[in-house]
Amino acid sequence: MKKSEMVSQNYSNKHELHDFAKQNLFTQKDNNGLYDVYKCSKCGVYGKRYTLDGDIIRDRQYKAKVYEYCDTAKNHINKKKLHSRG
Ligand SMILES: [Zn+2]
Repeated sequence: MKKSEMVSQNYSNKHELHDFAKQNLFTQKDNNGLYDVYKCSKCGVYGKRYTLDGDIIRDRQYKAKVYEYCDTAKNHINKKKLHSRG
């Protein structure tokens, strides 16, 4: 069998992914259950990850598709900063 190159198959290689790091020392809790808070060290987008389902759910203010990837999020955030200065 040929040596496969599964490793290089990266669907989203056009975009930079968020570099989420856990923010809280202790697991938090809300109406939906237990969660941890994750924040991207590169662009600052943050969200919750419920311990039951495993996906990070971006915060309400970061729901837009532009925040899905780190590079697009950073661009968008920078633009907003420019507009809100002064
Ligand atoms: Zn990011």
